[in-house]
Amino acid sequence: MPDQLTTVAARWTVLPLPSGGAEAVENVTVLVRGHRIEDVVRGPVNVDADRRIELPRGIVLPGFVNLHNHALNGPVFRGIVDDAAVAADTIVYDLLLPLGDLAGEVLTDDELRAVYRLAVLELLRTGTTSVLDMPRAQHHGLLEAAAELGLRAFAAPYVFSTRDEDASLAAALAVADRFDEGPDGRIRVGLGPHATDTCSPRLLRRIAELAGERDTFVSIHVAQSRHEVETVRVRHGRTPVEYLRDTGLLGPRTVVAHGVYVEDGDLDLLRESGTTLAHCPLTFARSGVTVAFGRFHRAGVRTGIGTDAYSFDHFGELRAAGLVAKLTSGDGAAADAPTLLAAATSAGGAALGGRFGRIEPGLFADLIGVDLSAPHLQPVRDPLRNLVWNATPADVAFVMVDGRRVVDGGRVTGCDERRVVDEAAAAVERLWRAAEAAGVLPPIERTPA
Ligand SMILES: [Zn+2]
Repeated sequence: MPDQLTTVAARWTVLPLPSGGAEAVENVTVLVRGHRIEDVVRGPVNVDADRRIELPRGIVLPGFVNLHNHALNGPVFRGIVDDAAVAADTIVYDLLLPLGDLAGEVLTDDELRAVYRLAVLELLRTGTTSVLDMPRAQHHGLLEAAAELGLRAFAAPYVFSTRDEDASLAAALAVADRFDEGPDGRIRVGLGPHATDTCSPRLLRRIAELAGERDTFVSIHVAQSRHEVETVRVRHGRTPVEYLRDTGLLGPRTVVAHGVYVEDGDLDLLRESGTTLAHCPLTFARSGVTVAFGRFHRAGVRTGIGTDAYSFDHFGELRAAGLVAKLTSGDGAAADAPTLLAAATSAGGAALGGRFGRIEPGLFADLIGVDLSAPHLQPVRDPLRNLVWNATPADVAFVMVDGRRVVDGGRVTGCDERRVVDEAAAAVERLWRAAEAAGVLPPIERTPA
């Protein structure tokens, strides 16, 4: 019903400040018509709405924008990378890529689809309304699951030079031709060159050209390991960020993931080119590597938050970003709640075309409501601080994407959640057994049933 009017009223609503920050304002009603926010009204409102969403003890905010994610790998790597004594530098190449390759070989299309549905379920329930994911080009499951369950999805299918780079690029473009819905669509497909050490200058220049011609976005891993930095230095005599600059890939339509080992000069290049950095602190923290939000933010680089191939809990990632920033700077005021919320919402929205990420008339109605009535969230003196430092995905009361309520009462509508979870778990457990047999994973002892 594209022209139905929905009113969304909560105790507090997070609105953008002209300075670029955000504030929680009391007694605001958001009017949603069709896919978009029609108006934001302060004070009493008297309209004849088709539907009313009320959260008298809660807060409404823009949905989280997860700027770097691997939907398949989250469930597949769960409990495997944690506590692993694998060197952080080589984990991507020794474990993660081989296991991802094996998933493509071992799992049936139905099983892959089941795992992607689980990932979308998890993303929605944590209050994520948009995700930028980097899947393998042959896996369309994320786009199908997002279309089905109502998530806004931006896929940047992997392109590599390590195999046949022309075939790899053609496969990614075929995904775009098939699934991309255009600027007003909920399903978008861009380009995902894997990383600076797995893509040739020829390939990166071609991708920069294509992104311009197709008016689309690009995402790539940058300076995520010392191994990558050293490889790029030996091959090209420059830093990974300089390599992107020289191949034409820096710019406002590019999201670079991680930047753990960037140099100060690289931060200047990112800021000056308007490139966005996707910051994923937990995926590195679990391997003992520190990467600090404050370093990027202080340098003026537009910085969003991603969960990478870890838990997709955006609250947890946000809190980790804040705590690591405070620990590394020794300053408790670093990375405060409004700053982190802006990184989790408006920064990602701006990076992905500026059509969502703020509660503002004309933008897509991507909103979440968080109930602040639970014991760990009361009493409330500063709602933004309670939200960032104390809330969990279980406190998400509703999620609206594109004007449609896709989580209601904490449950994803339009699916049998238990069944989605069970089917995905069975598929991943079968993959793990195959990975043990292939020597990719060490075997674990199982008690016979
Ligand atoms: Zn990644």
